[in-house]
Amino acid sequence: MTQPDAPAVEPGDPRVAEIFGRFEAIEPAPKPELEYLDPFTLLVSVVLSAQATDVSVNKATGPLFQVADTPAKMAALGVEGLTPFIRSIGLFNTKAKNVIALSQQVLERHGGQVPLDREAMQALPGVGRKTASVVLNELGVEPAIAVDTHVFRVSWRLALSNGKTPHAVEADLMRVTPAPYLTRAHHWLILHGRYVCVARRPKCETCPVADLCPTAPAYLGA
Ligand code: SF4
Repeated sequence: MTQPDAPAVEPGDPRVAEIFGRFEAIEPAPKPELEYLDPFTLLVSVVLSAQATDVSVNKATGPLFQVADTPAKMAALGVEGLTPFIRSIGLFNTKAKNVIALSQQVLERHGGQVPLDREAMQALPGVGRKTASVVLNELGVEPAIAVDTHVFRVSWRLALSNGKTPHAVEADLMRVTPAPYLTRAHHWLILHGRYVCVARRPKCETCPVADLCPTAPAYLGA
C-alpha cells in the first residue's frame, strides 16, 4: 500500500471536513449495499458478508429470507437446511454454524430480539467488533466506523489515519471525523474504496478528493 507522508490528522482539520463534505455532496444519504428487512436479517447479512461481496450475499439472502427471516425460523432450518442457501458464499460452513448458533442464542437469551448493545451483540457466535459496528451504526443505535479492507486502505491513502491495525484506524476515524458525518462515514469510505480508490490502480484522475489527498501525486506521476 502506498503510504501517505503526512502524520495522522487532528480533530478539527478543515481538510477532513472538506473531504467528507464532498462525499456528502455526491451522495447525501449513502445506503449499505446489503439488503435486509430488520435487525435480525441485517445481522445475518453482515455475518455472511465477511470476506464475501455484498452482491453474493444478497443473491443468497433473497431466497433465504423468504423461508427464514426470524431467529425461530432460522434456528429451525438448522445447519443442514441453511447450507444450501449460502453455499456460494466464502467460508459457508463456518458461517452456517454461526448463523444457526446466534439464532438460537437470540431466541434463548434475548427473547427473539437481536440485542442492540455492543457487548451483548459481540457475545453472539460469529459476531466480532466490525460486525457489531456495522449493525449498530446502520440501525442508528451508536455511531461507528467499521474498518474493512476498503476503509483501511482509503484512510491511509487520504491520511485520515496511519494506524497499523483496523482498531487503531477506527479510533482515528472516530476522533477526526466531524460529528455530522459520523454515521455516514463508513458508507462513504467503503463506496470510495470499492469504486474509486480501488486497491491496484486507484482512479485518481477522476477522484473528487484528489486535490486533498497526499497520496494522489504518487499515482498521478507528479
Ligand atoms: S486521489 Fe487517488 S489515492 Fe487519493 S483518495 Fe482519490 S483515488 Fe484514492
